[in-house]
Amino acid sequence: MKNTNYNYNGDEMEHWIERIADDLSKMDVEKHTIASGTSISGTIHIGNSCDIFIANAVGKALRKLDQDVEVIWIADDHDPLRKVPYPLPESYSKYLGMPYSTIPCPDGCCKNFVEHFEKPLFNVLDDYGIDVTIKSGYEMYKSGVYNDYIRKALEKHNEIREIFDQYRRVPLAEDWLPYNPICEECGRVNTTTAYGYDGDKVYYRCECGHEGVSDITKGDGKLTWRVEWAARWKIFNTTCEPFGKDHAASGGSYDVSKVISKEIFGYDAPYPIPYEWITLDGEAMSKSHGVFFAPDEWLKIGPAESLNYYLFRSKPMKPKDFSPKMKFLDLMDQFDTVEKVFYDEEEAPSNKEEHKFKEIYRVAQIHEGSPLPFRPPYRFLVNAIQIAGGCDLEKIFGILKRNSQLTKSFEDKEFEDLTERELAQYEERVNNVKYWLDNYAPGFVKFNVQYKSIPNLPLQEEQDAFLRDLADLMEANDFTKSEDLHDEMYKILEAHGLKPQKAFQAIYKMILGKKQGPRAASFLLSLDKDFVIKRLRKEA
Ligand SMILES: [Zn+2]
Ligand SMILES: [Zn+2]
Repeated sequence: MKNTNYNYNGDEMEHWIERIADDLSKMDVEKHTIASGTSISGTIHIGNSCDIFIANAVGKALRKLDQDVEVIWIADDHDPLRKVPYPLPESYSKYLGMPYSTIPCPDGCCKNFVEHFEKPLFNVLDDYGIDVTIKSGYEMYKSGVYNDYIRKALEKHNEIREIFDQYRRVPLAEDWLPYNPICEECGRVNTTTAYGYDGDKVYYRCECGHEGVSDITKGDGKLTWRVEWAARWKIFNTTCEPFGKDHAASGGSYDVSKVISKEIFGYDAPYPIPYEWITLDGEAMSKSHGVFFAPDEWLKIGPAESLNYYLFRSKPMKPKDFSPKMKFLDLMDQFDTVEKVFYDEEEAPSNKEEHKFKEIYRVAQIHEGSPLPFRPPYRFLVNAIQIAGGCDLEKIFGILKRNSQLTKSFEDKEFEDLTERELAQYEERVNNVKYWLDNYAPGFVKFNVQYKSIPNLPLQEEQDAFLRDLADLMEANDFTKSEDLHDEMYKILEAHGLKPQKAFQAIYKMILGKKQGPRAASFLLSLDKDFVIKRLRKEA
């Protein structure tokens, strides 16, 4: 039976997340497990945490279809460290090859390396409305969940080797086993080769020279990745799993694990959702090179819904480049529009876009059914905060109002009318913009209003005359629209034979002490009127 509070009907456009949920709902299973997993090889960033965001969104869409769902996230914390992650010192290279779970916390603040890099993600899961059951690969091995699967994999090692060999150019050694013990001598897991077994005992040799015996029930080793992945599907009855496109390549992990899952463990591989990597300012994200952007950092510059919007607005295999710098303002313009169209606060450019915007926001929204958030335009706030000289919410509200930057639900409101919730959203937005200004804004968007003294910058005679006439104009009129002031300013500058650029430079020089600034008319209207008039007359 379909849930009635879900608006899905045949003619409504479906988002790709909803289409996947729709496909899954047709499977004959009692309960869905959507699995996600992340290697704990350093900071968990927006590129490799896509898994968890997509899995969570599919889980939510499935619940709307009245399906029983559990979304899980597995920390791949028993995998070996392959590269020292930024910003850890080179001395950490002594841990290369060791499972993350056995490496100490770099700052001494957590139980170990794993907890240190998981914490920032765990801290923001609630903000993003992510509801997942957290699992640990290390714990799974230690508690014996994998024991029967390891036994089966050892028993069927010949079949597994043959499956692997179908996808390899160089066949595996005859005595190859799909299990890697942790060397009891050097602690590494990617330097050992298992060559024989007897019951639960696996014989291995290590590149360090050590030869040893490992008991598979002790958790001191792990299955070869593709076998482990297949075992995990059966263990959790996984029905769907998103993963990075590297696993999705033809003959890659997914293809091989799919065969192993079916032939060795008798389980059908889950519905795959491969996704493309996200680049950062055109560069591949890299934990070892310090090129990454994390979900907790995102919350400092934008609302949680905007990251969902960014991840879900295009299909998962579409390339995405993220920039927290100037391009971020375009993203926030788009997000603001989409949010306002969703709430019918603003009109979409076309019917088609209205459908598209609403469908994306429906999937990106965190608190279903919540009222329109109060988020004044991000780009405008970049200037308004600088004009206000800080985060004075009431002062900034006045600037927004004078510049007609409040949308229809707010245009008649005063600052005092904002609800507690709206005030919190407004404050968050102002703090986001301030953080962006302090950390990511390019120099040319930054300015300081020179309230204390008149900047000592030379002006041409025509520029001086222009400023005097502009002062008179502003004194004689109460402009409420920046377009009106803009038109009148053009009449004056033309009368003085000035090019617009020269005229505006005069304004910026007198008020900001530099040659550029935000759009002149709106900028002037955002400032205190008496201050502007005096300054244009060079009186104070
Ligand atoms: Zn720590
Ligand atoms: Zn060793």
